[in-house]
Amino acid sequence: MATRETTGGTRNESVRIGPDDPRYLAVVEKRFNKRFSASPDYVRLVSSTDQVVSAVEEAVREGRRLAVTSGGHCLEGFVSNPEVRVILDVSPMKRVYYDADRRAVAVECGATVGETFRALFETWGVVIPLGEHPNIGMGGHVVGGAFGFLCRQLGLAADYLYALEVVTVDESGQASRVVATREKSDPHRDLWWAHTGGGGGNFGVVTRYWFRSPDASGEDPARLLPRAPESITTFKAEWDWSDVDEPAFLRLLRNHGVWCERNSNADSPNASLWTLLEIHRKQFGKIIVRGVSTAGVGAEQQVDDHLAALSEGGIAPHGRELARMSWLEFALNPLPDLFAAPPGGVSAKVKDALLKKRFTDAQIGVAYDHLTRTDHDVMGGMLGLATYGGRINTVARDATAAAQRDSILDIACTTGWLEPREEAKNLTWVRAFYRDLFAESGGVPVPGEAYDGSFINHPDTDLADLSLNTSGVPWHTLYYKENYPRLQRIKARWDPRDVFRHALSIRVG
Ligand SMILES: Cc1cc2nc3c(=O)[nH]c(=O)nc-3n(C[C@H](O)[C@H](O)[C@H](O)COP(=O)(O)OP(=O)(O)OC[C@H]3O[C@@H](n4cnc5c(N)ncnc54)[C@H](O)[C@@H]3O)c2cc1C
Repeated sequence: MATRETTGGTRNESVRIGPDDPRYLAVVEKRFNKRFSASPDYVRLVSSTDQVVSAVEEAVREGRRLAVTSGGHCLEGFVSNPEVRVILDVSPMKRVYYDADRRAVAVECGATVGETFRALFETWGVVIPLGEHPNIGMGGHVVGGAFGFLCRQLGLAADYLYALEVVTVDESGQASRVVATREKSDPHRDLWWAHTGGGGGNFGVVTRYWFRSPDASGEDPARLLPRAPESITTFKAEWDWSDVDEPAFLRLLRNHGVWCERNSNADSPNASLWTLLEIHRKQFGKIIVRGVSTAGVGAEQQVDDHLAALSEGGIAPHGRELARMSWLEFALNPLPDLFAAPPGGVSAKVKDALLKKRFTDAQIGVAYDHLTRTDHDVMGGMLGLATYGGRINTVARDATAAAQRDSILDIACTTGWLEPREEAKNLTWVRAFYRDLFAESGGVPVPGEAYDGSFINHPDTDLADLSLNTSGVPWHTLYYKENYPRLQRIKARWDPRDVFRHALSIRVG
């Protein structure tokens, strides 16, 4: 990419890319959720930490609101915001290499999840439990905790973060790079901690991560991170709504919840199985269960046992498909139809919640009503229930900023649409569904006996809207629980001018 040297040649700067340059559109349009859009004065494609430092400093000096993007997979308009005047895209920074000095694998933040999986596998045969879409950017992903297909077995990606490099801005507006590690003796350790679940766009521009398992010893990179699975077995089966009446629906969801309650300990043999139950609206879709097993030769039996558990006393799914492949083949194109979108993409709303217990029968009744009601012709609506827990729940709630360490399910009420005119009815449907599911706790999953709030990598600005969150519990408690005050102190230290902010960013304490 084009760069220019400033006079004296000591600093290497990226170019300002204006609206008349084809790269401008590539950056501005790089967003999964087409619901939001931005029209910055200019964008920059940065390819080194020095370039980030000067780009940030310049935007601050000129008083232009800045946002950083890596993979463009934000579910809310944190980057694609009309108030943002400069977008810094770190995607040219995507090296993955072993850093012998830090005894850790370094990953630059512009790498995507797929690029990282590939490099880790091809170079060392190892893996980090990253998320489910290969185009997610590492920059925004890992800092939000990050779970994926291997989370029940390996935990969150942030649990493997050893160190990171961040460009921050001080009180005077000067930008500089800082490296923060999890070493107890590191004076910057708090900044590392804040990036193990605090979420993107809060403290500075993350340029690089270093990963190493907490218990790893030695200097061989092939042993510093978990070994990649020997193989992956995927499965899919489905029910037609015409076969599922309300009692059958209740039975299916009860069975599913019971399975999760019984099989979500880290030492469960079924920690090697991750599944997603997708209940699409009756008007347009089906009920699908799909999943991923690392149990190797035992995977087929494991899947069949799971399907039998879901069907107990009820209806068995049909069309069971099973496929076995290498980890890399899977990781680069996992469950291909899961996130399939038409050319031009979709607009979406995702309303996430973490559950410590299965849904009650009353909640299953609410789900049935909203998924079968015909007074909203919402095409893309669904309820997704992803298995969670396992190794994630072996880490203390305050050991990382990712405070939710007791959940067994990550559920989401979601909807997607193509035309802006369809937005209002989709939002009305999905908001009513979520509100009614959590009606007994003010329309949101208040952390307590049954729920554990929500996951910051799946941000939902509705949680900060007092007409939709009537629980009296603020949005930040839902995302961070008791870790929030510490995050605020770290924010005050490292971003005192609140340069890095968005609708759900940590407020300066
Ligand atoms: C289809 C899809 C599937 C997903 N699956 C999963 C999943 O399995 N597991 C999971 O945990 N999450 C998942 N997510 C959520 C995803 O991890 C988060 O949205 C994440 O923040 C995206 O990062 P990004 O860099 O791609 O996005 P961007 O839109 O570029 O950025 C998202 C946020 O992070 C900030 N950010 C980006 N780069 C940096 C950086 N270098 N330094 C500091 N802040 C930065 C941005 O400013 C913004 O606030 C999914 C999202 C989508 C759309």
